[in-house]
Amino acid sequence: MFEDIAPAKIGLEEWSRQFACVSDDLIRRYTYYGNNEWGIYLSPPATFMVYGARELKKLKYDNSLAALRLWGFTFNESERLFRARQNGMRVIATMGDLGTVPVIVMAFPSCIPFYPDCTWWTPFFNESTVLLDKASELGVPEASCFVRSSLAAFYKRAYFPKPEALFASTGASCDDYSALMQMVQDLGHDLTWLEIPYRRQRHEEDDPEEFCGTEQGYQYAARFDNYLANEYRRVWDKMRALTGNGDTAELKRSIRKANRLRRLVAKIKKTAGQASVAPFPALEMMVVEFGNLYGYGDIDEWTDIVEMVHNTVSERAAKGTGVLGPDAVPIAWITPTADPLLLNVAENLGARIVETEYVINQAHVEIDENIDPFLALARSFMNASLIGSTSERVRRIRDSVNQGRIKGVIISNMLGCSHCAMETRLIEEKLKDLPVLSIDVPAPMGITEQLRTRISAFMETLR
Ligand code: SF4
Repeated sequence: MFEDIAPAKIGLEEWSRQFACVSDDLIRRYTYYGNNEWGIYLSPPATFMVYGARELKKLKYDNSLAALRLWGFTFNESERLFRARQNGMRVIATMGDLGTVPVIVMAFPSCIPFYPDCTWWTPFFNESTVLLDKASELGVPEASCFVRSSLAAFYKRAYFPKPEALFASTGASCDDYSALMQMVQDLGHDLTWLEIPYRRQRHEEDDPEEFCGTEQGYQYAARFDNYLANEYRRVWDKMRALTGNGDTAELKRSIRKANRLRRLVAKIKKTAGQASVAPFPALEMMVVEFGNLYGYGDIDEWTDIVEMVHNTVSERAAKGTGVLGPDAVPIAWITPTADPLLLNVAENLGARIVETEYVINQAHVEIDENIDPFLALARSFMNASLIGSTSERVRRIRDSVNQGRIKGVIISNMLGCSHCAMETRLIEEKLKDLPVLSIDVPAPMGITEQLRTRISAFMETLR
């Protein structure tokens, strides 16, 4: 049935009508953890609104089977983690590094990584301040990142099962999250800390012999390779002690799987960005990008979904069909928005997002499969978004500007976020020859007419 449907963005009711025509065979075909009994995840998006994700009624979704799988799978994550625990798998929290530690965790059989950090979307999807209020009660100031909801989720023990191990990356990373992780530790969790080094550029007085570079052209002190590789070996040792397993052949296999996913997503981004009409909506594209962090905990199934997204995007791009008008204005989006609705709003007002900097560059680079796996992980992480200078962070956006691909930039700022407070003005400065709009992501249910008007006026200016 999906082959006959023209690409479009549709609401919950339309999805429910469309879902009524989905055969039982198709529903049973897709499962998580490979379990045919309880691992079915295809359901109409309205299901998750009934479970509490109230914002879903305001969103529009891509109408493809690929998107149906994508939403069913991602919204099902909380259930999936509790299922994992019930079925004797080990649920492992990986926090703060966004993309690398899960590759190690996935090398251990029956170990499921997840990012509590991703709870920052929950108050927005649920249109609820319950988690944010609880975080305030626990002592987190209001002027800090919405990721504070993850502390409340640890406290409430209802959003994910108690992890059997927690790996927390700090150092040259996010200050807000480092502070939160310390508070998670104070709740009684046993955290294993890793330190992320700062990617300092070479100065004139530095010995060039002591510096090296990543494939993306970022320079850093060569000693960090071994330093970070040893941090990852500590994660490995901890996982071995926990599970009684540990085979580096499995780690290499896990790296190959991560690379396959990363390559696929890179192809999707490229095809979608270059197509004459946007073949896939920005919201689903963000979900695809963030899946690189840990394959949402079942990398085989997630990669299969992303493969289907890739086919859908490629077919639509080849036919010149898509979900936005041909006059949608290509822009870049810097810093992910905690409120997913904002991406819908921007598209409704005429934007087409063709480039992004969602602070997860580290999850987009390929990991070298031909060297020591820990060293390879360290080198891939040295491409991270938040560990270097602002110029480096916006380099990809700059390149797109130079190629004439984008006409403007939206930066979504979060009040109190350490990197937003530090970087938004600097990014504006680095891109000053381009129209840039910086907006603050308001608290849940806080998108006002004034904010819509600002985005609308910006789009009008670009046009
Ligand atoms: S959005 Fe920024 S401040 Fe918030 S957790 Fe992520 S990196 Fe940290």
